[in-house]
Amino acid sequence: MKTYTCICGNTLFFENSRCMQCQRPVGWCPGCDRITTLLDLGNHHYQCGYTDCQTLLTQCHNYRVHQVCNRCIPTSEVESAQSLCDYCQYTDTIPDLSISGNKQRWYDLEVAKRRLLYTLDVLNLPFGHADFDVPLSFDFKGDVILKDALWRTLGKGKRVFTGHADGKITINIREADDEVREQLRVDLNEAQRTLIGHFHHEIGHYYWQLLVKNIWLNHFKDLFGDPSSPSYSEAMDQYYANGPSKDWQQQYVSAYATMHPWEDFAETFATYLDMVSVLHTTRHHQRGAATRYVQTAEFDDMIAAYRQLGILLNELNRTLGLIDFIPEVFTPFIINKLRFIHQLVRSTQSRQVGHSKIA
Ligand SMILES: [Zn+2]
Ligand SMILES: [Zn+2]
Ligand SMILES: [Zn+2]
Ligand SMILES: [Zn+2]
Repeated sequence: MKTYTCICGNTLFFENSRCMQCQRPVGWCPGCDRITTLLDLGNHHYQCGYTDCQTLLTQCHNYRVHQVCNRCIPTSEVESAQSLCDYCQYTDTIPDLSISGNKQRWYDLEVAKRRLLYTLDVLNLPFGHADFDVPLSFDFKGDVILKDALWRTLGKGKRVFTGHADGKITINIREADDEVREQLRVDLNEAQRTLIGHFHHEIGHYYWQLLVKNIWLNHFKDLFGDPSSPSYSEAMDQYYANGPSKDWQQQYVSAYATMHPWEDFAETFATYLDMVSVLHTTRHHQRGAATRYVQTAEFDDMIAAYRQLGILLNELNRTLGLIDFIPEVFTPFIINKLRFIHQLVRSTQSRQVGHSKIA
């Protein structure tokens, strides 16, 4: 992610809604695609603080009222006081705000979702609303616990499963609780488990349906296997009964990817988005020798840069006793799958008119 500059000279970050130095409100300007100082014109109207932009802005409803967003809408496009920004429009269901802690969970989920959508915009990947081939939307929901049954195990119908179905991405809001997520990571023997990781994975299922299913299926089968044999439910039963094969690291980015070709694709797609966002950040900050590779969009250069960065970042994390920054091992099998995803992304870019919203 890039960093930005307040008119007071302070550095601004993607998540900021206030400058920590001058205390002015800040937010995302869709006129110049930057986090900007919001110059207060009164009556909830603002102006972008960059002199080369100066777009007139109104805060997203979720920014002004709930403080879970930091994006603005060009004032000329605001239809009502409830108008949502380009990213909040994709959230269909928000957590029950009468429950203590849910506001913070919603905030954390929206932060991760904004990072996801930003990365999709960097890649110029298509996504859209109701009139789109596969309309994208998000539900952030908690398990329903009946007051008189708190001590019982939840029935299946009351439990929210994180997943993707026909463009709808559902995230169980418990994933926003650090202790719950870390316990699940340990129980499931995962190298990492983060909110951004969930979004990177589930959007992989979305792009399978949007891009692979009808166009690239044969090429997909060659690399990931046939998704119809065994069926998804058979594969899931087998995985939870027997676990992954012993030498899964040779062919898969994670143990979970071994379950079924769809999960393999989603896990590999998530790794690709990790790679793109890490390299995008590195390019902006121009740190380290690896940046010379980062300037190009060629896959071999990208993977070389990412592996080189991975050695440095993993060693830095180990210096502080943190888990590995880049846990994947890039074997030839895995590189071929990532290359397929890169080709898929490039093919959609070449079909679209114009360039990425964010350079
Ligand atoms: Zn400032
Ligand atoms: Zn601007
Ligand atoms: Zn918003
Ligand atoms: Zn999945």
